[in-house]
Amino acid sequence: MCATDDRAGAGWMASVFLGKGRRCLTPAGGVFEAVVKLTHGCNLQCTYCYDRATRGEERRQNGAVMPVDTVRKIARDLLKMPLRSVILTFHGGEPLISFSHLREAVLAAKETADDGANLKLCVQTNGTLVTPEIAEFLASNGVAVGISVDGYCDNHNRYRWPAGAGWMERIGVAIRMLISYGIVPGVLVVASRANIAEMDSIVRWLHESGVRSVRVNPVRDWGRSILHWRDITVSNDELLEMYQRVGGCTTEINSRVLPSARTVERTLESIASVVAFGFPSDCCGEPCLAGRLTASFEPEGEVYICDCAPKTQEYLLGNIVNDRLEDLIGAASPNVARLQSRRCADIDRCKDCQWRYMCFAGCGIDAEVTYGRLCEAAPLCSVYKGLFHYVLRMFAGHKLQYLLSRPERVLGAEAVICPEGGRSIVCPPAAQ
Ligand code: SF4
Ligand code: SF4
Repeated sequence: MCATDDRAGAGWMASVFLGKGRRCLTPAGGVFEAVVKLTHGCNLQCTYCYDRATRGEERRQNGAVMPVDTVRKIARDLLKMPLRSVILTFHGGEPLISFSHLREAVLAAKETADDGANLKLCVQTNGTLVTPEIAEFLASNGVAVGISVDGYCDNHNRYRWPAGAGWMERIGVAIRMLISYGIVPGVLVVASRANIAEMDSIVRWLHESGVRSVRVNPVRDWGRSILHWRDITVSNDELLEMYQRVGGCTTEINSRVLPSARTVERTLESIASVVAFGFPSDCCGEPCLAGRLTASFEPEGEVYICDCAPKTQEYLLGNIVNDRLEDLIGAASPNVARLQSRRCADIDRCKDCQWRYMCFAGCGIDAEVTYGRLCEAAPLCSVYKGLFHYVLRMFAGHKLQYLLSRPERVLGAEAVICPEGGRSIVCPPAAQ
């Protein structure tokens, strides 16, 4: 055990204590999210895609897909470990590019779980290939769905390739179809120069389409996006302003609908969670989840520390085909130990920051990729600072309280499937 189980009086003071106390690298007792790259092939070629463009395209030509036996091995290895539960997120590329393969993968994963109670399945898709047959299969097998969305019309679709093919219309149809089969998809939106000005309208459109969970992410500066970086990226000031606009929009929407019809933006929810309860409903922390409670699996079986990591040696943990997963992750891995040695207290800009036990200096990999140093403050530092202030102001005005209306997401009573495929598993240190 590496922390207290007493969360009754959680608040920011608790996070101060926990922030100082938790240094446990073992995944025991936690909720593990495995991002399973069934293929790098995709029917779109979004310019902001963080999947490796070149290797992905090579692999697409080679038709590289993850063998179903590898999916089985991942699920078996995880289910043998003393975890509270396991989430397998089928990812890509585009996992629906071959529905027959996805179907086999889902069924193989389910076979490995005795009663399935501690195995949750999710598919992260661009939504353009969903059909009634697929929706029916996913619904009947309890597979949650996350969809990546750019905007709400093809004008906002200019970073998808081939362009002008009516993708947004298809995605709108997919959302409605999934809902008609009983699956309410989570949605992931990448904030880019094309859509940032309209992000509140996009969130409103998603709400009206029946979506209840949206996550707006910045563009990541690796993968294909670096080829187009100047054209697509937005500044921290623009991001902060956008999150506040989205906060205003969701507050307005949620003030006039029943609790069950509320739509939350997950970045704001995570900030609100850590401010109110001391636990981020997100992956940042000290240590963060990387290589401990999350990992990413390539089609050929390579295991990387986190889906957010570039696929390079520093973040490689081994190969699931040859090795037992428990020998690759957590304290067993020098790469995990290296990443998780990063501490706020060792970072000049963070060590005296008033938000350090809520922010934990953000994502270490983000810092390392951006600045070439692990012990650096988060590239999104000014966004976080602005959002901590914003959330406190909104709480004081009784405007964001709806974000705390689902305390099980925050207090870690249960694992939350992360339908938008982002990093949003509740994982309080108490479970370690
Ligand atoms: S990244 Fe910025 S907000 Fe976060 S702890 Fe460091 S200085 Fe504070
Ligand atoms: S903080 Fe970064 S490296 Fe750690 S789990 Fe989250 S995204 Fe991955």
